[in-house]
Amino acid sequence: MGSGTVIVGTGQAGFQTAASLRTEGYQEKITLIGEEPHIPYQRPPLSKGFALGQQDFESIELRPRSFYQDHRIDLIPGKKVTAVDRGQRSVTLASGESFLYEKLVLAVGARNRKLSIKGAKLDGVLYLRSLDEAVVVKERLKNAQQIVVIGGGFIGLELAAVACSLGKSVTVLEALPRLMSRAVAPLISEFYSGLHASKGVKVVCGASVSEIAGSGGKVQAVLLANGTRYSADLVLVGVGVVPSTELARNSMLPVANGIAVNEYLQTSDENIFAIGDCAEHPCAFAGERVRLESVQNAADQAQCVAATIAGRRNVYRALPWFWTDQFDVKLQMAGISNGHDCVVSRGNAESRKLSVFYFKEGRLIAIDSINRPLDHMMGRKLIAAGVPLTPAQAADESVDLKKLAGSIGAAHG
Ligand SMILES: Cc1cc2nc3c(=O)[nH]c(=O)nc-3n(C[C@H](O)[C@H](O)[C@H](O)COP(=O)(O)OP(=O)(O)OC[C@H]3O[C@@H](n4cnc5c(N)ncnc54)[C@H](O)[C@@H]3O)c2cc1C
Repeated sequence: MGSGTVIVGTGQAGFQTAASLRTEGYQEKITLIGEEPHIPYQRPPLSKGFALGQQDFESIELRPRSFYQDHRIDLIPGKKVTAVDRGQRSVTLASGESFLYEKLVLAVGARNRKLSIKGAKLDGVLYLRSLDEAVVVKERLKNAQQIVVIGGGFIGLELAAVACSLGKSVTVLEALPRLMSRAVAPLISEFYSGLHASKGVKVVCGASVSEIAGSGGKVQAVLLANGTRYSADLVLVGVGVVPSTELARNSMLPVANGIAVNEYLQTSDENIFAIGDCAEHPCAFAGERVRLESVQNAADQAQCVAATIAGRRNVYRALPWFWTDQFDVKLQMAGISNGHDCVVSRGNAESRKLSVFYFKEGRLIAIDSINRPLDHMMGRKLIAAGVPLTPAQAADESVDLKKLAGSIGAAHG
């Protein structure tokens, strides 16, 4: 047997590549190497059920430990890959070991962007990306009373919802004028400001955080540039991530806003692929190159690469979708709304059932649905198949999206 496929990263994308290679009938060796000391697990529950204490580690494992042995996947957790030698086709670990590869998949994800302001390293300033960090967040939440969340994006707001549900006093500080503004329309941001406020979370947008104050090495307050002070005994920071590109950069592979790949998710070296949060790919639905941070993107890209490695060369063309759970409200997003020129809605905020449809040059490009799972599912079908839908139809509850989506199969069958 040859050296097979080496996968770097045991997150969603790395795990799925290994699993899908076997589903595709790949018989060669598979080596799955990850820096974290755990078997692959799901990240989304870390800021939801796990943080709330409703889910334990076993319930978030992607597969039980036996899966890897049963599928002849050599899982090597707790080891960092420090170098790729493209000439030798080998990777070297921090421990000094090295592994040869025929195909290499970089599924190295992203890490949290860190604050660089005064006080950012005080005890009680926490970030959340990994299970180990989640364990600390969960533990520290138990005794904290006043929580300040810096960042009103998905993870910051999910953590705010968790902390509030645990009975804490919570303030969210967001630099931009509205919540989740890079991803959703103003209508959805407004809904979420209202939702959090109704539960007792103080939401401050346009907040320019200038310093974290402390005493005896421990956090005490977060200060804004305008002089406002928010007392805190725990600060949770969610200000975005940076893709892990060092391995690619050091082995002279092109890097932009992520490791640059083509429509096959291949880097400039045909034997090396990059997928998931670390990769920037050409996206037909966005009409440009994008780097996406979602379970769907990681899992679908992994399946695509696995098929290619197994001999079924495959262009990546999956519709992006995403979700976030805050309190008892689920927001589901389908498509990419960047560049939209028209927005219409269905349902209303009062009933807490609302969908926003985004159009570009008359074409439906994205749908955000709050507690309207059917709209989301039908939206995914309509956008992926490019079924015509006018803004007037989208806004009209009597237009049956299921029927329209149902016509896709009929038209193609
Ligand atoms: C708290 C949280 C909540 C989220 N909630 C949602 C959600 O509700 N919905 C959704 O769609 N998405 C959500 N996401 C995003 C989603 O989890 C990610 O997009 C997805 O996990 C990306 O998978 P990945 O495999 O590309 O990267 P990662 O999951 O980041 O995995 C990369 C792995 O590679 C390892 N690694 C990096 N460098 C090396 C190296 N040199 N050697 C060895 N190993 C290395 C890292 O340690 C890491 O384990 C959430 C993310 C977080 C953190």
